[in-house]
Amino acid sequence: MMSTTNLKTSLGIVMLATATASYHKSTSSSANWISTAFTAGAAVVGAVAVITLVGRKSANKRRTNHDDTSDTISVEGSVMVTLPTWAIASSEDYFSRRYNTDEEMMSLAIHLSDRNITEGTGGPFGAAIFERHDDKDGNSYCTLASIGMNRVVPLGNSTLHGETVAIQLAQRRLGSYTLRLDEGGGDGSDDGLYWDEGNDNQKASKRQRQFELFTSCEPCAMCLGATLWSGVSRIVCGATKDDAQSIGFDEGPVFEESYKHLEKAGVRVTRNVLRADAAKVLQRYGGGGCGPIYNGGSN
Ligand SMILES: [Zn+2]
Repeated sequence: MMSTTNLKTSLGIVMLATATASYHKSTSSSANWISTAFTAGAAVVGAVAVITLVGRKSANKRRTNHDDTSDTISVEGSVMVTLPTWAIASSEDYFSRRYNTDEEMMSLAIHLSDRNITEGTGGPFGAAIFERHDDKDGNSYCTLASIGMNRVVPLGNSTLHGETVAIQLAQRRLGSYTLRLDEGGGDGSDDGLYWDEGNDNQKASKRQRQFELFTSCEPCAMCLGATLWSGVSRIVCGATKDDAQSIGFDEGPVFEESYKHLEKAGVRVTRNVLRADAAKVLQRYGGGGCGPIYNGGSN
């Protein structure tokens, strides 16, 4: 179980990502060295800031949660992703629980979607990522790894859907660009990571950690892609694409084939968990008075 301090730290993180960035990583046999270069785009800010960091990395150890670049990247060359203050204030409650059923975990995602519109801090979508564990008797349970909710309008950023916020915060907390981690702490460059399940030549080693994304509504095209790249082993959805579209949201090109692709890639899919409860939040938002339908594209 995570300490309260860690919880608050992980939730209170202000995430910094370069607007336009290039990332170079050494893949040579001397994989102890990572070289990262962030280049803020001149076209965006009218100025160029280049920050190069060279750090030492121990083999078979994942990176720490703390990225030293955060303090030195200019505001103009960065993007902030933040949770609303009410979510941070509730973090101890959310994170201190042990979650046993899909319904319990979906209830949190729906709660986040509902509270988000009540508080006026974004659209009617919530998400949460859980890690699955087995206790000593072999019973399965989950702990919370991150939460997210739609932040598009408040933060002026079309990419901040509930799922993408939850994915970014979980990866930030774990210090890894993928949630496909092994229990030995492999981070994507180390031996323990399951890069390619079809590759018999790679080392079959440590047990893979299981992260599951719960979302109050089936993902849009962007979030479906983000789910695929995130490294989660499962996605669980509440309301359907039709429920979202019925109040005017555009979900983009998402097809049944898209879900089959996820399954093929090793991401299990479960849908319609507490669908009626999740759809009710959408209907409340769609009924007016809560905020805009903010499709940036066709609508
Ligand atoms: Zn989305």
